[in-house]
Amino acid sequence: MIEIKNLHKKFGDLEVLKGVNLTVASGEVVCIIGPSGSGKSTVLRCINRLETPTAGTVIVDGHDIMNPRTDINYVRTEAGMVFQQFNLFPHMTVLDNVILGPVKVRKMPRADAEHLGHDLLAKVGLGSKALAYPEQLSGGQKQRVAIARALALQPKVILFDEPTSALDPELVGEVLEVMKKLAAEGMTMIVVTHEMGFAREVADRVIFIDEGVIQEENTPQEFFNAPKNPRLRDFLGKIV
Ligand code: ADP
Ligand code: MG
Repeated sequence: MIEIKNLHKKFGDLEVLKGVNLTVASGEVVCIIGPSGSGKSTVLRCINRLETPTAGTVIVDGHDIMNPRTDINYVRTEAGMVFQQFNLFPHMTVLDNVILGPVKVRKMPRADAEHLGHDLLAKVGLGSKALAYPEQLSGGQKQRVAIARALALQPKVILFDEPTSALDPELVGEVLEVMKKLAAEGMTMIVVTHEMGFAREVADRVIFIDEGVIQEENTPQEFFNAPKNPRLRDFLGKIV
């Protein structure tokens, strides 16, 4: 589903990604962990070209994102994104936030989109909130709306960038539950997270990025129980 080869990204003189290689198969859940500033968000943002790679290749479901003939807007519908800060439109109802993509991008008739929107809100446990506005929701509810919105474009992969980092601790679980359900349904997911319990339980593979390179990549079992990379051992020692 995703093939990243020798990905480099510089911001001015700052080399943030120094040759990242990562392949994610359809249906896989890959968790990325690493210190702040190590390049985790930049990797995700390069996948749908929110950032332009300096060098290397990124292929999403067969589409080379650097090929000028690739329709990047199409690739962005295939690779949905969920951000730490939700990014909902405050002046629109929850339902309208969810169906904006299908109506605007896919030109879906509004009645069909509303039907889809109600289904997706029910799926994330917010069937009764369709006509609420984002400010009337808790952080956990907002993030579940953001997940429903990502699903509305029927993506082939969802990229989660610290989806629970902005939430009060008691609201983290409800968002992780929705993500677990998606994983169980076979959604391909790349999840940047500090939720080690989630990574342990749900990930097929866990990746540690530090200083712009992948330092370790393993099954959750090996990754957490027998980390090899000294930086990873140090990192896990600080947080667990
Ligand atoms: P992480 O998500 O692992 O915390 P990021 O990928 O956000 O790290 O950032 C990696 C490095 O790149 C940081 O030093 C950050 O300051 C820098 N960076 C990220 N985006 C930009 C940008 N648009 N312009 C300049 N520097 C950036
Ligand atoms: Mg980040």
